[in-house]
Amino acid sequence: MRAVRQTTRDLRRRNRATLLSSLYLDGPVSRLELGRESGLSPATVTNVVAELIGDGVVAEAGLVESDGGRPRTLLRIRSEFGQVIGVDVGETRVRVGLFDCLLETIATVSHPLGGTPLDPEEVAGVVLTGIGDVLGQRGTDPASVFGIGIGVPGAVREGGIVHAPTLGWSGVGFADLLRQGVSAPLYLDNCARTLGQAEMWRGAGKGAERAVIALLGVGVGAAMATGGDSFSGVSSTTAEWGHTVVQAGGLACRCGSRGCLEAYTGSDAIVRAYHRLPGAEPILATGSEAMLAELVERAGSPGPAAAALDRAAEYLGIGIANLVNLLGPDRVVLAGWAGAMLGPAILPAVRDAVGRHALSYLSEQTEVVLGALGTEAVALGAATLPIAELLASGGRSAG
Ligand SMILES: [Zn+2]
Repeated sequence: MRAVRQTTRDLRRRNRATLLSSLYLDGPVSRLELGRESGLSPATVTNVVAELIGDGVVAEAGLVESDGGRPRTLLRIRSEFGQVIGVDVGETRVRVGLFDCLLETIATVSHPLGGTPLDPEEVAGVVLTGIGDVLGQRGTDPASVFGIGIGVPGAVREGGIVHAPTLGWSGVGFADLLRQGVSAPLYLDNCARTLGQAEMWRGAGKGAERAVIALLGVGVGAAMATGGDSFSGVSSTTAEWGHTVVQAGGLACRCGSRGCLEAYTGSDAIVRAYHRLPGAEPILATGSEAMLAELVERAGSPGPAAAALDRAAEYLGIGIANLVNLLGPDRVVLAGWAGAMLGPAILPAVRDAVGRHALSYLSEQTEVVLGALGTEAVALGAATLPIAELLASGGRSAG
């Protein structure tokens, strides 16, 4: 009997999850459309929707004309159902965003970090301050936040243990450090993966069958996402793409190897390469972001700055061509703060390099595009973690 009850409950949860995900991706939609898309019977749709409305996750959103018949009622996810927080722990700064249930931004804050290696307790303190700041900006009740997602530049193991060589972290219990200061459930994941999820849900990856989201910053990473039109089918894994070798006996990389992609396309690496060119005037700005911004501005006219960006574009194109040859994606998205800064200047050269280095039958099917979510993308991506949990649970994880 127990097994049977379990199965019925599982089925109900699955039906709730299916309809919620459909509404999240395509809403507002009518009950009829929900039925068509999910394959569930009209009676099941009616019952499950009534439950979701009763729980306050879903609301009716006006009427839409239908061909000849009665107008149909539209349904939507209630954005006021609850809030989520997304945190981007970058190598240069911590960005924190407060978002509503539909991932519309309510408040954001950004705090710079000192140079690496970063003290985990200090970073946790900055994250908690940032969370307090975004809640304070609008006087948000912390109890209305049903989850906090954290994106980190490294691998996250069971129990929120973080391995992030670029931060100097090995086996850091970062989740435990944060848990002392927050009560909402915490979700940690790699920042390239969370960024990939955000670009797939809301940005330049939407609708792609098989997308690679490249995260460009001081470090270089990538997430692979297979999505298509189905929300629940989005899954992605990260690769240490930045440490694939593109030049035998090449420049030293901070991972200890030589000739890594990151040693040519990471933001600090690009600035260093510029300084080695004849006739290069020293960059006066301090901090990785300001230095790259100054370089991009100088590259507007011919000279060593433009040459440095051309070289970075060539290596980035080689790195992408390798991905194209290995994975055959239909879309490659250049994202991350450095991607947003460099993208408009280097995109044509990157596309050109991909065309020369990848097999043409594969590269012809791949479009290389710029990310659509800008510098907030990693924080937004981190916020997708508790939302994904909410949808998977059929709206039961909150409240
Ligand atoms: Zn490396």
